[in-house]
Amino acid sequence: FDAASRIFHSLRPHVPLPPPDRPLSFPAYALSLLPCPLPSHPALVNAATGHAISFADLLSQVRSLAAALRSRIGLAKGHVVFILAPASLDVPALCLALLSIGAVISPVNPASTPAELARLVALSVPRIAFATSDSAGKLPRNVTAVLIDSPRFRSLFDGDGGGVVEVEVEQSDVAVIHYSSGTTGMVKAAALSHRNFIAKVAGFHATRKPKAEAELFLLGAPLFHGMGLCFLLKALASGETTVVMGGRAGVKQMLQAAERYRVTAMTASPPVVVAMAKWPEPLDLEALETITCGGAPLPVAAAVRFMVRFPRVEIRQGYGCTEGGPISWMICKEECRRVRSAGRLSHNVEAMLVDNATGERLSIGQTGELWVRSPSVMLGYVGNEQANAITFDANGWLKTGDLCYFDEDGFLHVVDRLKELIKYKAHQVAPAELEHLLRCLPGIADAAVVPYPDEEAGQIPMALIVPQPGSNLSGIEIMELIAKQVAPYKNIRKVVFTNYIPKTPSGKILRAALRNHAVFNSLSK
Ligand code: AMP
Repeated sequence: FDAASRIFHSLRPHVPLPPPDRPLSFPAYALSLLPCPLPSHPALVNAATGHAISFADLLSQVRSLAAALRSRIGLAKGHVVFILAPASLDVPALCLALLSIGAVISPVNPASTPAELARLVALSVPRIAFATSDSAGKLPRNVTAVLIDSPRFRSLFDGDGGGVVEVEVEQSDVAVIHYSSGTTGMVKAAALSHRNFIAKVAGFHATRKPKAEAELFLLGAPLFHGMGLCFLLKALASGETTVVMGGRAGVKQMLQAAERYRVTAMTASPPVVVAMAKWPEPLDLEALETITCGGAPLPVAAAVRFMVRFPRVEIRQGYGCTEGGPISWMICKEECRRVRSAGRLSHNVEAMLVDNATGERLSIGQTGELWVRSPSVMLGYVGNEQANAITFDANGWLKTGDLCYFDEDGFLHVVDRLKELIKYKAHQVAPAELEHLLRCLPGIADAAVVPYPDEEAGQIPMALIVPQPGSNLSGIEIMELIAKQVAPYKNIRKVVFTNYIPKTPSGKILRAALRNHAVFNSLSK
């Protein structure tokens, strides 16, 4: 902590990055990290079928695909491409091939409804979508889909596709578009650069194990979430074997895969750790050494229960966000004991804590909004200058919308979420989106959606409803009507009827007040 500037610096050694103005795509950087000769263990294993692919084959697939994507699909630098499919043996090669020709990958949740997909299409305007046969039908008609389970897609892997591809990609070029509602409002398209991914992976790569005992890593986070994509790319670049789960895999399948492949490391959201801690059957996780947990807060009781059941496994809690990348992380047994914290600042990250009322920068032990600056922080939201102006300050600090403090030993504690976001099983649910849908229902005069605590999911979306006079719409009917329009993780799971929604004079919902149970109980009819 620098008392003069009131900036918190990472305690980890600085990780050098390539000079920013040198043209370099993420895949080219990843290739430079890979051990030489290439590892003899597989790069990827399909958890369900056991099929595996070597690093040499993966790299040759990336080359053939890159050429075919240009010559046969007509993709070029800057084109946005939807990936509407779970991780499989093909999707990582597809992502790397697209990035190497300068195309922008946009991984999307395959559970999205047609209306949700239409909104995402309007935000990022994809040229084409690579989709599975069960998800492609939900895309708007104007988006061409290539089915990744079709012979046409398979044929892209064959041959040289027209020769070696050489596309000059700048590190500042957009590489990935993720979707996030950020601190307020509706979902937005967050643009991340090749350099963002170089920085993210460089940080994780710096803490890798020695080559001789490379990780056998289970990818437990979805690819459409920043954490899933980042950990997959990090594992590939570090020469680790990644076990990928199919689309509909739940916790049970994940644990079976962890046992079967004797994985040494995995990523998981807090609900998975909670489920593992109280799993009713015996689990043989002898080989498991670390579980990286992030995306939402991990309840202390669950962490302790997990540590009692699996004393040899380190739970490495991490904290970050789509817009800011990895912000804090635990990297050793010592740090993992600090279960109440979200770890120490990651490599190359600077942070400030800001008092929202006064704008004053705070010190150790004081709680304020966390602002961060690092080479992993996104370029910005696509085509939304208003949101960018709210999210960044004039000096490039990203406002996380999280209320935090640092303790004396440099551990970050996430105390509360100032932003509107609800996290259901670590998935983002934007209250503004559900409120808009609710207000469009007949019989509803006004509505607000707030997080409600839940042991299993962390939080569930709860709706406060002001009915129109004479309306007899029930809570269950409201939940069903919304469920038809949104992906299942966004379902409203609790409804409370009220006479009014407390708002500021300018009409903004007073969310902090609504999250206070005493207040909403007094509002309830
Ligand atoms: P996302 O953009 O979906 O990754 O969501 C990021 C948000 O999830 C953060 O801004 C936090 O509000 C929350 N979050 C992520 N990791 C943690 C953590 N370890 N502890 C508390 N909150 C977290």
